[in-house]
Amino acid sequence: MEWIRVEDGLPEEGARVIVWPEPERAPVAIFMHTPEPTFGIDGRTFHVTHWMGMPEPPDGEADICGLCGGPGADKMAAHTGSGALWPGETRPDTDMVHSECEQEETRRAHSLLSDEQRRDFLEGIR
Ligand SMILES: [Zn+2]
Repeated sequence: MEWIRVEDGLPEEGARVIVWPEPERAPVAIFMHTPEPTFGIDGRTFHVTHWMGMPEPPDGEADICGLCGGPGADKMAAHTGSGALWPGETRPDTDMVHSECEQEETRRAHSLLSDEQRRDFLEGIR
């Protein structure tokens, strides 16, 4: 694994990567393209000159899904980025989820709301 200059290429949207210079809290950040290319974590953003992909997790330590608790979570939960949760939607315990679990939970929460509640919520986050 090698450092990649940000001028030479950027990670995929939502990718968790190791960043340089290392921010004071952790050398790991999430890459987001919105509104412009940004490395950050927990709502803070960092100036980054180089990044590299995360190494494979240790055996048996695959990413745990924050919704079902199972291993093999394959995406950052929507709330870690620009996504919003519907009222009543379960907030994942971890930052990673299975995309199917997130879709299912979104559908579940959405189906319990009235049209009026959905409209009010969408106006609220605009
Ligand atoms: Zn899951």
